Amino acid sequence: MKITVVGTGYVGLVTGTCFAETGNDVTCVDIDAAKVSKLSGGQITIYEPGLEKLFERNLKENRLQFTTDLAAGVKDAEVIFLALPTPPGEDGSADLSYILKVAEQLGNIITDYKVIVDKSTVPVGTAEKVQATIAKNCKCEFDVVSNPEFLREGVAVDDFMKPDRVVIGTRSERARKVMGDLFGPFVRQGNPILFMDEKSAELTKYAANSFLATKISFMNEIAILCEKLGADVDMVRRGVGSDDRIGKRFLFPGIGYGGSCFPKDVQALVKSSEDADYDFRILNAVMDVNEKQKLFLLPKINAFFNNDLKGKHFALWGLAFKPNTDDIREAPALYIIDALVAAGATVTVHDPEAMENVKRLLGDKVSYASHQYDCLNDADALVIATEWSVFRTPDFEKIKATLKNPLIFDGRNLFDVARMQELGFHYESVGRAAST
Ligand code: NAD
Repeated sequence: MKITVVGTGYVGLVTGTCFAETGNDVTCVDIDAAKVSKLSGGQITIYEPGLEKLFERNLKENRLQFTTDLAAGVKDAEVIFLALPTPPGEDGSADLSYILKVAEQLGNIITDYKVIVDKSTVPVGTAEKVQATIAKNCKCEFDVVSNPEFLREGVAVDDFMKPDRVVIGTRSERARKVMGDLFGPFVRQGNPILFMDEKSAELTKYAANSFLATKISFMNEIAILCEKLGADVDMVRRGVGSDDRIGKRFLFPGIGYGGSCFPKDVQALVKSSEDADYDFRILNAVMDVNEKQKLFLLPKINAFFNNDLKGKHFALWGLAFKPNTDDIREAPALYIIDALVAAGATVTVHDPEAMENVKRLLGDKVSYASHQYDCLNDADALVIATEWSVFRTPDFEKIKATLKNPLIFDGRNLFDVARMQELGFHYESVGRAAST
């Protein structure tokens, strides 16, 4: 099939590459000329495990092309995916301007039947708006379909190639047939393609992300309670997660969720609820808990240093909002850095993949260490903000020998408290007793 993907960010590039991998002819369109030039030249623009190999192969086979020219890019397409940003607007609602701008352009461009697919995360009613915007100028037939994306950064290729489910919102038989054919190869192991109306598909995505965010904030509050009552959140998590009705995943406490999706999607669903004259109380609490959780380690750090961080120096491991990505959007690490620097401390950071993005954002606000152990030089303490695998079994003797104090504040519960006690660390984590 001939496919066009508009927007080549985390979702668009994975979508385009994976469709090419299953034999489709894919053209990716982006307004960022520098990005398009890099991608056309064979240089991948995001870090996503497994993507580069597929990207190189399909580029070489000419199944994957890049352009800044929307008209040329969609000319031969049967299906046009919109993988455009939907950032939060000032009032928290999803900003649809990127999508509606492209919809307007498409109305002037297309001359034969196309299936136009909204892959971005958008509020209920957006498919209707896109339909109306295109129809203003368009003389030919077309269908607008909602196909929310559930991939997770870090395992995006696997998620796309073997999705738990594909949600397709359309009431058009013609579009349903095209989408069914296109996604057939991805669900050969028997996972469902769920056809539904556009509004239900749009709400499914927000409901899924908001539910997962709720699970995280719930466990973070249980962790706070564990510390207050002397329980161990690791034990509670295991006890709770063994119940099939609850499940083991998404029960790990930490310093809050970040990224480009959960924070903005929860906020957008709350706003949609308000617009529908409904106060979604649970989600307001989820956001509130998460805001506080990002700075969960700060009172512990302050208490250790008698509320005087002036002149103290911290090593910080982990900048990405989660492991296996270079994405730092809404990363808890950034909030911790802000708070430490505001209190008069200095920070040296290390991350396996996200350093360049942080350099662009923070410049010389922090220092950068290309190796995780160099990061520790002259530091009064180590703070851990992301659970990268390389941080899980570090050389503790080296850490102890390099840090000024054997002191670790761990926002991701990477280490066993008893072991840290044995090793002689003062170690504080989330929802567990400290080793002193
Ligand atoms: P992104 O910011 O990484 O990428 C968006 C791309 O669109 C950029 O390359 C940008 O240059 C391009 N763009 C902007 N305006 C354009 C235009 N007029 N024409 C062509 N290209 C244009 O965003 P993303 O993370 O890929 O997210 C895209 C959508 O998918 C959002 O709605 C997001 O909520 C949703 N989503 C994201 C994820 C994720 O893990 N990142 C997962 C599921 C859903």
